[in-house]
Amino acid sequence: MPNPYKTREGGATVTVFVPYDCRNHCPFCINKQEYADMTGFSLEKICASIRRMDAITPRCDFVFTGGEPMADLESLQTMLDCVPKTHRVFINTTLPVFEGQSPEDVLAFFAHNRDKITCVNISRHMRKYVEESPDELIGRLSVPARVNCVLWKNYPGQDLPAFVERWKGRGVSIQFRYDYTDTTPENLYREDDDQILHDLKKYFTYKGLDGCRMRNGYHFEYDGVEITYHKTLPYSTITETGPDGVTYDILYDVIIKQNGDVHSDWTGVPMDVAAYEKVVFEPDDQHWIEQIS
Ligand code: SF4
Repeated sequence: MPNPYKTREGGATVTVFVPYDCRNHCPFCINKQEYADMTGFSLEKICASIRRMDAITPRCDFVFTGGEPMADLESLQTMLDCVPKTHRVFINTTLPVFEGQSPEDVLAFFAHNRDKITCVNISRHMRKYVEESPDELIGRLSVPARVNCVLWKNYPGQDLPAFVERWKGRGVSIQFRYDYTDTTPENLYREDDDQILHDLKKYFTYKGLDGCRMRNGYHFEYDGVEITYHKTLPYSTITETGPDGVTYDILYDVIIKQNGDVHSDWTGVPMDVAAYEKVVFEPDDQHWIEQIS
């Protein structure tokens, strides 16, 4: 018999994979291949799954990712309109502009959704993997914004200060990300052989560490810019026996796939949504481990 589900108070984060692709080919991308064949992709089924997850956990976080959520603003708006304002909403995007979608269109989209979008996470890397819209556009968005930068193999560590300088004065924070396909429970908190952590501590002011059994964040500051270094495991379920003697699947993320199917993990595990309606909640285990004032 499958294990019952447990998750943190408020509910696991629901990540929605939009039913359309991006124009990029990042070498570290693990989602791209899912967009090679769009048979069965369905905006309607995704919307139905969003409503179902909202009914089960009306205060969970939603993340829209892809593919490229902002490649089709009309469809993105349709999905956003299914998410009530009880949720925090995040959008992972490259902030694309192209023929038929001007910077003004992008600005108007965020202005229209300023009460709904909690933060837009914009991919910009130290090596140019994605088609980039002008930096000045990022400073003009009417919602909070964060730059997400994957520090992938042989990243140019000596250029970290220049990369942060690029974003100074634009009102954004920066999140550097470890290649999570390489993260294991053993190295999640290991610091001695973490080259990225060493580089960040060399150039920026370390402010502390928070985390849980699934992911963590090292916090830094550089000339008024807030920086985090994020590491997470490549899966999102931990199986554990609770004090009640019951073995639970503890879910950190729920995934709505491009065809509307709901999964309980990144690793292709379909969710028993009826069982999730009876999910047991535990306190959020994300906490400060070290704080430097
Ligand atoms: S922009 Fe995102 S979805 Fe597109 S190739 Fe890069 S990582 Fe993958």
